[in-house]
Amino acid sequence: MRNTTVPERDHLDQAYETLAELEHEFTIESLLSRQTNRWPVVSARGLSRTYGKGDAVVHALRDVDIDITEGRLTAIMGPSGSGKSTLMHILAGLDRPTSGTVAIDGVTITDLRDRELTQLRRDKIGFIFQSFNLLATLTADENIVLPMSLARRQADETWRRTVIEAVGLTDRLTHRPSELSGGQQQRVAVARALITRPAVLFADEPTGNLDSRTGGEVLALLRRSVEEFRQTVIMVTHDAGAASIADRIVFLKDGRIVLDRERMTRDAIYDTIKHLETPVAEPVAGVAVEV
Ligand code: ADP
Ligand code: MG
Repeated sequence: MRNTTVPERDHLDQAYETLAELEHEFTIESLLSRQTNRWPVVSARGLSRTYGKGDAVVHALRDVDIDITEGRLTAIMGPSGSGKSTLMHILAGLDRPTSGTVAIDGVTITDLRDRELTQLRRDKIGFIFQSFNLLATLTADENIVLPMSLARRQADETWRRTVIEAVGLTDRLTHRPSELSGGQQQRVAVARALITRPAVLFADEPTGNLDSRTGGEVLALLRRSVEEFRQTVIMVTHDAGAASIADRIVFLKDGRIVLDRERMTRDAIYDTIKHLETPVAEPVAGVAVEV
């Protein structure tokens, strides 16, 4: 072993100390910048959507502003008819607002022509539907890479394997949807949504057609995609259990955001939804209520 003189050792120790300090600072700094760099992947301003005209007009969304930060799972909740699907469809560029703007990954999609919008959806957005929406004639593998095939792009082989392994479908790749269980089909749909590495993944009631166990597997998978791949996920759900895996929960009522919270327990979410579903009793002055 080489003998080091004392001054030399001091020198080394000091160097290591400085390195350790630098490393520490670097980590803290990168963590901090990660926090502050959480710019909105989806940003919407003044969104309104009405259906119908005159007396029959329905205000599905009323002046909604929302920013969705990167690498988090946001749940959108609310009573039936509160505007959840309308909001999701507009944020995902599947529908256009009556007024207001939506930007995805810095592109104002409400300014785009239909063709450009289709292209942007293909490049930047992943979808998971309640009813899986797989193509019956294609194998699991072909369904998974379909977005790439449609864009005439080749899936990166390492990424393809990572995704297939993550969803646990390695030994089901040649099966067609009819040969797969509901949970497996939805896992194919998750893989199909992840394969393009979308800026944002939208899930509309992803567990709505699944029993609680397989639903739980799909939710765990969505959570993993956030933790491991820093995937941004927006999930519409009416299930308090599903929403309890979210980092943030946005509650809608009558087309407006009425509550916007960080992580909540299943019970707290359940109570909130129950509260929102209860119509506010209008006090009527001077009228005795007959029982
Ligand atoms: P949620 O998904 O929360 O159940 P929706 O976004 O589907 O709510 O609907 C919000 C409101 O807009 C409801 O009152 C619904 O009846 C109405 N609505 C949704 N789509 C249409 C449509 N295509 N035509 C007319 N009204 C609609
Ligand atoms: Mg809906």
